[in-house]
Amino acid sequence: MEDSSNPTPVSSSGRSLADLIKESRARVAAMTTEELRAMWQAQRESFARAMSTPCEHGLLDFEQCDECRNPPAKDSPVSRETT
Ligand SMILES: [Zn+2]
Repeated sequence: MEDSSNPTPVSSSGRSLADLIKESRARVAAMTTEELRAMWQAQRESFARAMSTPCEHGLLDFEQCDECRNPPAKDSPVSRETT
C-alpha cells in the first residue's frame, strides 16, 4: 500500500515581493532589443492616438479648446430675453 502522507509541506505562496520583482525584471532583461522596441512603439502609438483624437468641438488639443476648458453652464439665465 502507498503511504500518501508527505512529510514535506508544500507552500504555494512562499514567494516574496522582492522575488516577484526580480522575476519580472529578469523577464524584461530577457527580451530582445526588437521586442523592447516593439513594446515601446506600441506605447507610443497608443499615446499618439490619444493625442490625435479631436475633442467633441473638433479641436485636436482639448487644452486649446475654450469650450472644453470652460464648458458653458447649461441652466444659465443669460440667454433669456426680457422685454
Ligand atoms: Zn472642445
